[in-house]
Amino acid sequence: MAEAGINDAQNSPAQEAQATTDGFHLVIDALKLNDIDTIFGLVGIPITDLARLAQAEGMRFIGFRHEQNAGNAAAVAGYMTKKPGICLTVSAPGFLNGLTALANATTNCFPMILISGSSEREIVDLQQGDYEEMDQLNAAKPYAKAAYRVLHAEDIGVGVARAIRAAVSGRPGGVYLDLPAKLLAQTIDAVKAKQSLIKVVDAAPRQIPAPDAVKRALDVIRNAKRPLILLGKGAAYAQADAQIRELVEKSGVPYLPMSMAKGLLPDTHEQSASAARSFVLAEADAVVLIGARLNWLLAHGKGKTWGAAAGPKQFVQIDIAPTEIDSNVAIEAPVIGDIGSCVEALVAGMGADFPKPSSEWLNAVAERKNTNLAKMAATLDKNPTPMNFHSALRAIRDVLKTRPDINVVNEGANTLDYARSIIDMYQPRKRFDSGTWGIMGIGMGFAIGAAVTSGTQVVAIEGDSAFGFSGMELETICRYNLPVCTIVFNNNGVYRGTDVNPNGGADVAPTVFVKGARYDKMIEAFGGVGHQATTPEELTKALLDAIASGKPTLINAVIDESAGTESGRLTNLNPQSAAMKK
Ligand code: ADP
Repeated sequence: MAEAGINDAQNSPAQEAQATTDGFHLVIDALKLNDIDTIFGLVGIPITDLARLAQAEGMRFIGFRHEQNAGNAAAVAGYMTKKPGICLTVSAPGFLNGLTALANATTNCFPMILISGSSEREIVDLQQGDYEEMDQLNAAKPYAKAAYRVLHAEDIGVGVARAIRAAVSGRPGGVYLDLPAKLLAQTIDAVKAKQSLIKVVDAAPRQIPAPDAVKRALDVIRNAKRPLILLGKGAAYAQADAQIRELVEKSGVPYLPMSMAKGLLPDTHEQSASAARSFVLAEADAVVLIGARLNWLLAHGKGKTWGAAAGPKQFVQIDIAPTEIDSNVAIEAPVIGDIGSCVEALVAGMGADFPKPSSEWLNAVAERKNTNLAKMAATLDKNPTPMNFHSALRAIRDVLKTRPDINVVNEGANTLDYARSIIDMYQPRKRFDSGTWGIMGIGMGFAIGAAVTSGTQVVAIEGDSAFGFSGMELETICRYNLPVCTIVFNNNGVYRGTDVNPNGGADVAPTVFVKGARYDKMIEAFGGVGHQATTPEELTKALLDAIASGKPTLINAVIDESAGTESGRLTNLNPQSAAMKK
């Protein structure tokens, strides 16, 4: 390991003047100076000593079994805290594994920094065949908000400062920081080194909206007959919870939360229109988007979903990124700034006499909501054998209702679609899911990131297929004794387990897994607690036990193998051949 750190309190001023430090120490000093206290990663050449040193210097290093999961943990930590989550990987393959998480973070607007060791620049650039040779900087660029490489130890402070600023300012995203092996070992005068570090001031400056933009937006809302507020995960990220609640309640406008904005206001709030989603999207004549993009998750703001026949809609869009505006449809009233400042300005501009939506609109929404809730209650009340998605989720819902502080991770196809609407959330930034890409594989990474960051219980509701992408991290969960309860919805396959090979050959159908697999036994191999649940009662008991103990737990929830639908609710994105449709 390298020489004494620049923070070594035992050095006299004279000794310090002569002392040297190195790249390893400077990276850690730069992160610590900026209040970063945790690194998620996976060690190997050339960053093992960086991880050791981080731990020796009082940082937390959480070691994973695959870099993608470490990167996902870092991304969710960034989303929860507004500070960039840090993922540390080795070069080439380790870097590439982490890159998927970096790209996902950028896509979701989560701030994270992927720090990867890299090989000798001279050899890489001449393609002379180094150990794990790869031009990582250029590989990262298309998938990151920014990418930097540091070649001289005296620039480490600048490199880390730029990475932090790029990750959290404006629209947050993933940043790549390339640290060649040679840089880490470079020595540098300790005094000069200390002077080179930068403590970032006001990393994500407030961005106050222009008064005329606020006025334009208020005019749209004031003149609307059927207004709707749509909250996205940008609104949750902004940590402007009180201002958003004030806007919703003062305006009296029905609101819809996107999946990760659930809990920003409790899902049981009377203005929540979640249970009348299709109705309000189709019928609203003015929609206020707050930290939500009109991407595929919102049918791009057009077509049947948006009631094309009901006439054009007016949109207000609050976003920090001006280029988001008009990305899919015309936006009448863009309000550019940070969500806290924008929402505050809207509330201030509303005045005491701002008109509430008509009772005709509010009654229509309430009526549709009540009808749909009654229908859903009837479905949820059924107790089929074997369990289906609904009866299993009812059991989980009833337990989670008693513990609104619990973090929920959710992925899968059917498991995601059903859980999103059945599991109510009551507090902001407690739900972490497949997000903007609809990605599978975030499960255990997000669960570990959420448990480490919050220090509180996580329940991961996982489809059996989705769980497979990160399942080996059960060892990580057990190693750090994290309060994570993973519930695997086991229906023997992708979507469902009933497909057959049309040729009748030895191979099973592409969507089918081993029947009756016991995922609960996997966690037992690492000292965790495994449960098998075949009824809602068994599931309730196992979940209550897991939460009470706080122990790493996996519940294998046996679901009817014929219960799932192809692609969950994304059937429209999954072209099927005429023959297979039969
Ligand atoms: P969802 O998937 O929930 O609809 P998106 O990820 O599509 O949400 O949208 C989030 C939006 O929020 C992005 O357009 C992003 O630019 C914006 N955003 C993120 N943080 C802030 C912030 N602090 N202030 C304003 N806008 C923000």
